[in-house]
Amino acid sequence: MKGRTFRRGVALLPVLLLTILFANSCAPFLRSVNGFSMGASYYVDYYAASDLSAEIRAAISDVDARYSVSFGPSCVSMLDQSGAGAAVSLDEEEYRAFSRVFALAESSDYAFDPAIFPLVKLWGFDPPVTGTVPPSSERISETLTHSSLSLFSLSSDHTVSKSDAAAMLDFGAAMKGYAAERVRDVLIAANASSALVYIGGTIAAVGEDCRIGVTPPRDSKESFAFSFVLKSGEICATSGDYERYFEYDGVRYHHILDPKTGAPATSDVISATVISSDGMMADAYATAAVVLGSEKALALFERSNVRAALITRDLKVITYNVDVTIKDASYVAE
Ligand code: ADP
Ligand code: MG
Repeated sequence: MKGRTFRRGVALLPVLLLTILFANSCAPFLRSVNGFSMGASYYVDYYAASDLSAEIRAAISDVDARYSVSFGPSCVSMLDQSGAGAAVSLDEEEYRAFSRVFALAESSDYAFDPAIFPLVKLWGFDPPVTGTVPPSSERISETLTHSSLSLFSLSSDHTVSKSDAAAMLDFGAAMKGYAAERVRDVLIAANASSALVYIGGTIAAVGEDCRIGVTPPRDSKESFAFSFVLKSGEICATSGDYERYFEYDGVRYHHILDPKTGAPATSDVISATVISSDGMMADAYATAAVVLGSEKALALFERSNVRAALITRDLKVITYNVDVTIKDASYVAE
């Protein structure tokens, strides 16, 4: 069977460049869905016997509607706006998502911390970026006292509450991965023969492996720094200090905050790509790796069943269970 090749322009892919070869696709049509959700564009290209666009759109908007901080009736925004002690009820799906998010925070030693939202707002990183000047250390210290997951309690009776009215959750660092996971599962359940899911830089492959290129985090002549093979069923997420930031006095202040200091992470990792069949984990740990730095991130990857590739400040590519092909010679495989 003749292979099919799909290429997407770089302009559509601010975080990752993809080149995908579907070698053995046998379904009759290439179908495509695209849109905008969770502050980012998404597209899904797939081969399937029937049109799955409604199910795909429904899966993505369900994640947005339930967990977005800006969606009025979402359980997360209701909790954020609630007073101390008020219980917000969760249905089964929401309880499971909350449990997974809380567990990822704990397993990453709170490098991924969904309770960081008051700090995200203080810095002006809730999209669109409004920050222009770093906040004072006094305000950061004060806001840190409202930015702890210990202020929240998730109960087995499917309610969640907080002990501090100013505490707020933001699942944004894990939700694109979760949405990619939900769409992957829709495609698998519908027997799609192959598909590529792209949601704001988080990618899932279904039915076929595909090669993914990771954008150079610093100026480069190449459109990607290195590439690797994403296996069918896997999801990859990339986080870095080059996505959303402002500069003040020659210093770059980026949108991934270290929950321990309340300021943008200053570790040796400037780009982290994490690969897993658990999309929420891939997304959360990509964010966590930028906070943790390479040494602690590698220990986290060893404890979890993930694969990963990190780029350090000195442009070294550190891999864990993934083979990379370097494209831009400024980057050196460790
Ligand atoms: P993306 O911007 O592609 O979603 P991430 O998945 O890395 O990138 O998520 C970063 C966003 O998550 C930030 O814009 C901020 O809202 C929030 N955030 C920042 N630092 C953390 C952190 N340490 N843990 C959890 N969420 C964070
Ligand atoms: Mg993330």
